[in-house]
Amino acid sequence: MLNQLAEVQAFDLKLDSLREERGQVPPDLTATEAKKRDLEARIALKEQAQDELRKRVNANELELKALQERRRSAADSAVRASTSKEASQYQNQELQFATRLTELEEDTLPLLESQTALDTEVDGLHAELAALVPELAALVQTEADRVAEVDARSVSLAQERTAVAHGITPALLQQYEQVRKAKRGLGLAEVVGNGTCGGCNVRLPIHVVQKVKRPDSVTRCPSCGRILYSKS
Ligand SMILES: [Zn+2]
Repeated sequence: MLNQLAEVQAFDLKLDSLREERGQVPPDLTATEAKKRDLEARIALKEQAQDELRKRVNANELELKALQERRRSAADSAVRASTSKEASQYQNQELQFATRLTELEEDTLPLLESQTALDTEVDGLHAELAALVPELAALVQTEADRVAEVDARSVSLAQERTAVAHGITPALLQQYEQVRKAKRGLGLAEVVGNGTCGGCNVRLPIHVVQKVKRPDSVTRCPSCGRILYSKS
């Protein structure tokens, strides 16, 4: 019976390690996901800067348009002026508008240059992201395949375990499962060497070792509580 339980435990330990293996996400997937998030954050920031710059350029362009109209209207008024004094007033106005126009055009030029540079940068980041997407998709698929394969192995191991566990009395199986849960791993420990518990390495009293050797007796380690068994 205990040999059968040892077999069950071997399956349980394999299932434990498969569960751990399942949770181990490959570093290249984690790294590529992080790279994508980083790129997306950088794109969002740059696009925000693009928006702000676009607003400033649009505002300047509206003002340029308004100045051009006022300049034209001052020029028209100068032509239509009835006195030379009036004409010269309008000419002065026209000159002022022309000066402000030149200043505003000079202010707008660096903004347009920044806009071009920023557009190039954002395009580059988008291209980088576009190249990363299929790479990430492939890694995600590989990961899904890996997990599915681990799951398939777990299912088949669990079936084998059930078949072996079938021959063990429910009370013993329950006891084993409780100890295993409490001890996070081994519920059954082999008596090793000269009467030592293989679970906690404590030297067992002679009467305990003798009891373990008796067939069909369930003995637990007085120190760690694991069910003891002897291969001989
Ligand atoms: Zn022990």
